[in-house]
Amino acid sequence: DRLVGADADGEDTAVEAALRPKDLQEFVGQERVREQLDLVLRAARARGATADHVLLSGAPGLGKTTLSMIIAAEMGAPIRITSGPAIQHAGDLAAILSSLQEGEVLFLDEIHRMSRPAEEMLYMAMEDFRVDVIVGKGPGATAIPLELPPFTLVGATTRAGLLPPPLRDRFGFTAHMEFYAPEELQRVIHRSAGLLDVALEADGAAEIAGRSRGTPRIANRLLRRVRDYAQVKADGVITREIASQALGVYEVDARGLDRLDRAVLTALLKLFGGGPVGLSTLAVAVGEERETVEEVAEPFLVREGLLARTPRGRIATPAAWAHLGMVPPQHQAG
Ligand code: ATP
Repeated sequence: DRLVGADADGEDTAVEAALRPKDLQEFVGQERVREQLDLVLRAARARGATADHVLLSGAPGLGKTTLSMIIAAEMGAPIRITSGPAIQHAGDLAAILSSLQEGEVLFLDEIHRMSRPAEEMLYMAMEDFRVDVIVGKGPGATAIPLELPPFTLVGATTRAGLLPPPLRDRFGFTAHMEFYAPEELQRVIHRSAGLLDVALEADGAAEIAGRSRGTPRIANRLLRRVRDYAQVKADGVITREIASQALGVYEVDARGLDRLDRAVLTALLKLFGGGPVGLSTLAVAVGEERETVEEVAEPFLVREGLLARTPRGRIATPAAWAHLGMVPPQHQAG
């Protein structure tokens, strides 16, 4: 597990429940999404109706699960949580749908990973609050229509573009969640520090925020590691200095790169003069699998504008040289 990985690990799962904002007011950042969602929910409440289906798209750890729970809380409705990969057969989905209460929120994480038959059943359920349960096999099979109570589907996906258009079109509202600005992450960190009863200075929060890759989940995780360090090595107070030392120990640098990210960049610069170099060669140079370099290290390096993928291979940008404190060859004297 990477300290700067955006997916939840076991420890996160336990702590996140305690750190989750409970209503839209407490939810930090994502101003546009919050404002739009607030309107959608208020209008539904005023009509005494169930809220429209909502699609949340965005990278892991940006608050999709949190927002789905907030939607349920704001509607005063219960919530059921499941995920695309957990629904293998249409029958699994039928069982869930038929047991929903009126107005219930169904949170379907990784909705793009649902099986085809389940997806088709979902179309009808979303549109008409009805499913056809197929009983029997072959020519004798019959479809038994089943009425469902009105419910709100909240689907989450890392990329809305992965969804088949017929599914995408059945959502009344789509919210695209962006990475958080450093100031927003600072607010997340201050809020979490308060809940965890950790003494945190403003500079300390800024230092952690800068290394959190725009992601609240990572910010909360780094905060916990820095808290440990502050307790063991200092008086428990998180200052800029303490945060910086602590994250140095965990090899998370000032920009949020970890050991692997830096190994990839360093190889690219030192061994290949900044590229272009093929992915396989780069992977061998850092002693990692191709997939690890491509899927684990590169996305953030690309996002940060440190590395570019070109048809001729990977190249380092001027920012990469600057970040590692090195000078590109063509600029070297002599
Ligand atoms: P995944 O798709 O990987 O499950 P997610 O997008 O559903 O991720 P959450 O589980 O909702 O992410 O959020 C991760 C953590 O970050 C939680 O502890 C949550 O409290 C915190 N968090 C997320 N967004 C916000 C926010 N806007 N304000 C405060 N805390 C937040």
